[in-house]
Amino acid sequence: MKDLFGDKVTRAQELLRQFQPKDKLYYGCFSGGKDSIVIKDVLHTGNIGVIWHLNVTTIDPPELMRFVKKHHGDVVWEIPKIPFFKMAEKRGFPTRRGRWCCSEYKEDHSPRGEVMVFGVRAAESPRRAKTWKEVTAHTRTGNYVISPIIDWTDSEVWQYIKSRNLPYCELYDQGFKRLGCVGCPMASNKKFEMQRWPHYERAWKRLFKNLWERRTGTIQRNGKTWFGNKYWSSWEGMYEWYLSGRQLPNENECQGLIDYFSSGNDTGTDNQCNDHDYDAGNTYQEELAEFDDDREDASGRSSGLNS
Ligand code: SF4
Repeated sequence: MKDLFGDKVTRAQELLRQFQPKDKLYYGCFSGGKDSIVIKDVLHTGNIGVIWHLNVTTIDPPELMRFVKKHHGDVVWEIPKIPFFKMAEKRGFPTRRGRWCCSEYKEDHSPRGEVMVFGVRAAESPRRAKTWKEVTAHTRTGNYVISPIIDWTDSEVWQYIKSRNLPYCELYDQGFKRLGCVGCPMASNKKFEMQRWPHYERAWKRLFKNLWERRTGTIQRNGKTWFGNKYWSSWEGMYEWYLSGRQLPNENECQGLIDYFSSGNDTGTDNQCNDHDYDAGNTYQEELAEFDDDREDASGRSSGLNS
């Protein structure tokens, strides 16, 4: 039977039934974002057994956490023993290349032997399109990972949400296209995020200041005492650089310095952390409009074929 998107919902549910573990439920990864609420509903309407888990990073947008609490009371919250800022005091700030927080907070929770469900989609990034398939193996555990909405577009996701009248996080109506940790190295508009959530801004600044002060006055390999370098002469400069997302003029030259403050691992693989951004000019209503245009195009094309 054809559903709203051709047969995408039906296909997603068939795939899920095909890989459904015999003696246990699916291990569902739920973030509270738009893709998560769609995949959760797809399993629910297909009557497919699952337990949903939310990996809390402790720098999550508060609106998102409140949304999950209010509308998805069945989700299991995985709360880390050591919160992000405490861990970052030891490991340094994360960078695009060294996203230690992903493995710490997002990836290392699922036990081996689970069959996992993700709402990941290829449309989110070219890298994701290359590395994720409907069925893949988890890089750490080797578990099966099923991504039944991998080929859904943004507009299809929004259309599904609208057609099912699903509640979604208010941040989407405020211009956020994707949701993720506040101040994430992958975020394209960290400055905006800091203004928006000043308590997180204070915590990020404190982290940079502490990391800086811990290094200041230490003896370098060349025997000289360290008081800053040619790129940053203060923690404020380093913090501004972090917010800007700019590459340093010679990143290789000072990678050692970055590593000093950020002892992250370069996982070299795609993971569950999105590039997330804010774009006031492109809210979900526009995504819906695109969807309607697509449908009109499609019906125009088919009537042309039939005539
Ligand atoms: S979303 Fe960003 S800050 Fe959060 S865990 Fe992933 S890389 Fe780290």
